[in-house]
Amino acid sequence: MDHFPIYLSTKGQRIVLSGGGEAAMAKLRLLLKTQAEISVFAPAPAPEIATWAEQRRLTLHGRALRPGDVLGAALFYAADEDAAEDARTAAIARAEGTLVNIVDNLHDSAFITPAIVDRDPVTIAIGTEGAAPVLARAIKADLEERLPTTLGTLARIGKGFRKMADALPFGRPRRDFWRDYYFAAGPRTVAEGKAAVESALEALLSDHKSRVARSGHIAFVGGGPGDPELLTLKARRALDEADVVIYDRLISPEILELARREALMIDVGKEGFGPSTSQETINNLLVEHAHSGAQVVRLKSGDATVFGRLDEEIDAVDAQGIGWHIVPGITSASAAVAAIGQSLTKRGRNASVRFLTGHDMQGFADHDWAALARNGEVAAIYMGKKSARFIQGRLLMHGAARATPVTLVENASRVNQRIVETTLARLPTDLAAANLGGPALTFYGLAPRAAAQLTPQFIQEEMA
Ligand code: SAH
Repeated sequence: MDHFPIYLSTKGQRIVLSGGGEAAMAKLRLLLKTQAEISVFAPAPAPEIATWAEQRRLTLHGRALRPGDVLGAALFYAADEDAAEDARTAAIARAEGTLVNIVDNLHDSAFITPAIVDRDPVTIAIGTEGAAPVLARAIKADLEERLPTTLGTLARIGKGFRKMADALPFGRPRRDFWRDYYFAAGPRTVAEGKAAVESALEALLSDHKSRVARSGHIAFVGGGPGDPELLTLKARRALDEADVVIYDRLISPEILELARREALMIDVGKEGFGPSTSQETINNLLVEHAHSGAQVVRLKSGDATVFGRLDEEIDAVDAQGIGWHIVPGITSASAAVAAIGQSLTKRGRNASVRFLTGHDMQGFADHDWAALARNGEVAAIYMGKKSARFIQGRLLMHGAARATPVTLVENASRVNQRIVETTLARLPTDLAAANLGGPALTFYGLAPRAAAQLTPQFIQEEMA
């Protein structure tokens, strides 16, 4: 982030602009919405600017800018639409200690004006650091459509109510009250006028005051395989409402971004002191935060119920009488099988599919190898990289065909997804050659669907 977005108070400030044409007018239309005193320097101002001056909305000087004109101003806009004149006026403004913006010249500007969605006092600033003005405009258009024009009115009325709402305990109770106002009670009554909105606010406040403070709660949330678009709506909402998020190593940064900004984020997957935070520490964290009244999200990769040690955590919170629920997620086998264009089950091939772990706490995990070795069996093997040679050995020993297809999907659903196609015989060799650094799902008994049948997007991913 080169340009840091802030909101500048304009009350009692001076803003100076040099220029009298189209570019000047475009900027002035925005600036006239502020409370700044605006001075314009233009030897030949457009009639519209002259009219604004007559209406005393700005001060117009019918001449070129001179040294001394920008002294004490907060901002300066060079809008002369002439590179030489812009450079001259900008140099004066800089010398006089003012932040300079040259219209359409990102490089020489100290600040830029974002695209603005105006629902005063709610204003949304959109900036792309000059990289994609088209994108900024598209986002603006989207938001303009999405945000009701009454939003500003609701916010203004709400502002007058803030002191009273402070009677609610800080944090969740207050947030819940405001959410109900902005998304339910407010929009419902706004058409009836200010008085109706205010009485709705009062009713809402007494309702919220009488609610007993909610006790702490834990949501065990499946964060999916990594692509934030594979989160469920329930998972998104839980993240949105969480006071505390306790997350694992495989949770992608894009997903953590979705958590409420004020939420306390606790990484329990760090590989620093030992392989990871101990299960006991995690259990204690869950209990401690729920006891303090927090809405806790325990965010686990994929689906929390698949190889996630979920039961140990549930037992720990159950023992303390803490409420909890599970939000299902997309397990990595689902994402990985989608990536290879296959089905987990198929009529005539396999009527069941196994989810296996390559190793458990005791080491390599044992399974019913003889059953798996039968023709047509399919297994999704989690944590199967280290144990690949062991699994291969057991399966071959129990008579599995050497040519049985095996496919590894690394980083399923993520931008760096990779697919390794091999066979049982070649598994350890091909796996070593592929040098997979990320999490990988191993499919035993499945090959990627033939390239010709795949969608173009999938082929690209596979070749990448
Ligand atoms: N609860 C998780 C699994 C946790 S065990 C789930 O439902 O997916 C961790 C293992 O999951 C990893 O070793 C890897 O085998 C698999 N895994 C997790 N995320 C993955 C991803 N994006 N791509 C491929 N495999 C993944």
